[in-house]
Amino acid sequence: MTSPSTRGPGPDGSPDEENDASAASNPTRRIVVAGGGIGGLTAALALERVGFSVLVLERSDKLGEVGAGIQISPNAWRVLDELGAIPATEAAMVYPEATRIGSARAGGIVGRVPFGETARHRYGAPYAVIHRGDLHAGLAETARSRPGIEIHLGMAVADAQEDEDGITVEIQGSEGVSSYRAEALIAADGVWSTVRRRLLRLPSADYSGRVAFRATVPVEAAPDLASFTGLWMGEKSHLVHYPISAGREINLVAIVESDWHEETWSAPAERDEVLGYFKDWPQEPRRLLEHPHNWLKWALCDIGPGAIWAEGRIALLGDAAHAMLPFMAQGGAMAIEDAYVVARCLANDPDVDEALLAYERARKDRVERVMRTARDNARTYHMKGMMAFLRDTGIRYLSGTRLLSRFDWIYDWRP
Ligand SMILES: Cc1cc2nc3c(=O)[nH]c(=O)nc-3n(C[C@H](O)[C@H](O)[C@H](O)COP(=O)(O)OP(=O)(O)OC[C@H]3O[C@@H](n4cnc5c(N)ncnc54)[C@H](O)[C@@H]3O)c2cc1C
Repeated sequence: MTSPSTRGPGPDGSPDEENDASAASNPTRRIVVAGGGIGGLTAALALERVGFSVLVLERSDKLGEVGAGIQISPNAWRVLDELGAIPATEAAMVYPEATRIGSARAGGIVGRVPFGETARHRYGAPYAVIHRGDLHAGLAETARSRPGIEIHLGMAVADAQEDEDGITVEIQGSEGVSSYRAEALIAADGVWSTVRRRLLRLPSADYSGRVAFRATVPVEAAPDLASFTGLWMGEKSHLVHYPISAGREINLVAIVESDWHEETWSAPAERDEVLGYFKDWPQEPRRLLEHPHNWLKWALCDIGPGAIWAEGRIALLGDAAHAMLPFMAQGGAMAIEDAYVVARCLANDPDVDEALLAYERARKDRVERVMRTARDNARTYHMKGMMAFLRDTGIRYLSGTRLLSRFDWIYDWRP
């Protein structure tokens, strides 16, 4: 694969002066995407589809996702479908029948939200769950099949200088620093984004005082949960579970209130530490939590509303722009939607600064509403006493379809 760069990195990361000549005769519009996560790879697919030549720079030496599962709601599934990424991921997806809502206070299930055919019919797209590694591998496979996309591993965006005609992106690789000339830099470099902090001088995401523990169990440990997602709410803690890996495993995410924080996605956690938070819980969720012996933990962060997303030729996307609490299961979905919209905006307006501002305007209200709803859920899920009783009674009173309809504004989004 040849690099489309003006002064682009060779596979070893070194500056490639020879590319100057080929670039001068090639009028293709070039975009650099920082980060090869879910947001960055989807952005590459969306940008390539509207005619850009895309260089994805990923800091890690290999592509992959940490953390086991991810829920792909219909709004995100639809975008992935339109970008041609479903065939490479579908075999690993599970389409749950429903989500069951349990309450530790009530000691059992208090509600059921139908997915399955109901979601397909209502939104024209399914609700899916998948292992992150499988989603990521499918996105990477799809991206690698597109002639306009190059993915370079072990290369981090370190800096950038803009001028009237473009942006020169500085790249740190194992062999040193190189640079690459493009029209715009799309930063999908995650919650601890370098572009956000160093280039745009924006504040970091804030620790939320909540920690997520993650583990998987073989489906044989809980075969009755093989076709459901589940949410169990308790005082200062909750548990989410769903099938992944084509139904072979169940993914567990247990969330608690805690001051622990480190900038990592994969700190190991002790089984006893996890179980300690859930010792007073009913037997059904406890049985699930007792199964795994290996847990990982990470501190949950979010970014407050009102932050800048785009400046000049640089735009933030996904967690770099709007890391949010995962209590709507929408952080990745919003990154996927962002990717689609930023590509459309850049395709529609040759003035890059204006196009990126249009992207920010098009996305912000919706994403901030999702972030606020996730913060509200953080309070609702962890209620205690009378408030928890009223919450559970309210859920019991509503039909499944009524509960689902509360998500229409999210799931029915169309590109
Ligand atoms: C517990 C939990 C559960 C969740 N569940 C869901 C869910 O069910 N559904 C959902 O939609 N979302 C969910 N989310 C949110 C979702 O995981 C994130 O929103 C999503 O992964 C963000 O993708 P991203 O591409 O923006 O960032 P990331 O996935 O973090 O990718 C960023 C990439 O950039 C690379 N990088 C970093 N710095 C640089 C640099 N300087 N140069 C080049 N590369 C760089 C990193 O190595 C990484 O590969 C959950 C989150 C958590 C914490």
